[in-house]
Amino acid sequence: TMIVTFMFILWSSSLLLNKLLFEKYTMYHVAIDTLNELQESEQRLKDITSSMGEGVLVVNKAGVLTFINPEGERILGSTYNELTEDDGDIYAKIHTEEEYISDNSLIKRSAKEDKILHSDKVKFKRKDGKTFPVSMTVSPIHSQDESKQGVVVVFQDITVQKELESKLEKLALYDALTGLYNRGKFDEVLKSELSRTNRYEGNLSLLIIDIDFFKKINDTHGHQNGDHALKYIANLILSSIRSSDYVARYGGEEFVVILPETDAQSAIELAERIRVSIEQKALKISNDQTIHLTASIGIASRSSRRVSPKVLIEIADQALYKAKKNGRNQIQYVSHHDDTV
Ligand code: GH3
Ligand code: MG
Ligand code: MG
Repeated sequence: TMIVTFMFILWSSSLLLNKLLFEKYTMYHVAIDTLNELQESEQRLKDITSSMGEGVLVVNKAGVLTFINPEGERILGSTYNELTEDDGDIYAKIHTEEEYISDNSLIKRSAKEDKILHSDKVKFKRKDGKTFPVSMTVSPIHSQDESKQGVVVVFQDITVQKELESKLEKLALYDALTGLYNRGKFDEVLKSELSRTNRYEGNLSLLIIDIDFFKKINDTHGHQNGDHALKYIANLILSSIRSSDYVARYGGEEFVVILPETDAQSAIELAERIRVSIEQKALKISNDQTIHLTASIGIASRSSRRVSPKVLIEIADQALYKAKKNGRNQIQYVSHHDDTV
């Protein structure tokens, strides 16, 4: 019986062993398959995103960076290892100080609100602490597997675009030679200031300043000295006005000044001060020569009557014409539009 018992034990244990082995084997294989799948999908993610021109990073539910593509590392100036080292608070590493403190991170919000969020007004921080503007889209990752939930961030460094934007904005607003507002911006400001003044029945005045015989300056001293003279006059006008006034280069050697909340009398006094300062100061140009310039100024005012920008400019133009006709180097004020001129 001992032999039988022994055989039985041997047989049953081999069965058990087989069963165990089989289960372990299948469990092992399931685990390997999942791991392979995971690695494959991660590899796929890497393959796909490695050739992308955008940075891609994945942050899990716990706020830990779990993936970043090469372009992302390049933009941030940090490797995956650097971004995850010393318990790696990814928010502290890539967000600017203000953004981090305000706790208004788009990445956190996207996860919390379960929404796709986009912004091109955010800044990220590089390893060296330098911040730069980014455009980014954050999308929540939906997965049955909780460990895979989080957000994927697709981002781009938009420093160049922002610089171009501000250059274009400047071009659209400012005159390249003098740095004053250009005519387009002047039209815009006059329109809005005038409609504001018309609403509350206030005062607004307008000056048109035209340099006398400027053509002769160019002809005698050259175009470059002419340019120099224009910059000089622009600065002279700028230094004569208040910070709430607007100066623009209206045309070649013509400047306009918008004086909000200024009545005709104050405008006349200011125009005279500008005229005198142009007349009194001499401009040094090349070859130790000096130029004496004078200007004629036309003044128009919106006082009691509602007036359109077009009409106000026409009135100031009529006043300027009068100043030129009367012998230049003088100011003229015209009180209202005269169709007969
Ligand atoms: P008036 O007293 O009647 O105003 O005579 P003026 O010579 O000033 O007037 P006119 O309008 O005949 O000439 C303006 C001159 O301004 C002609 C043009 O060569 C010059 N001008 C316009 N824009 C520029 C510029 O950007 N640079 C320089 N250097 N000259 C300019
Ligand atoms: Mg002119
Ligand atoms: Mg002129």
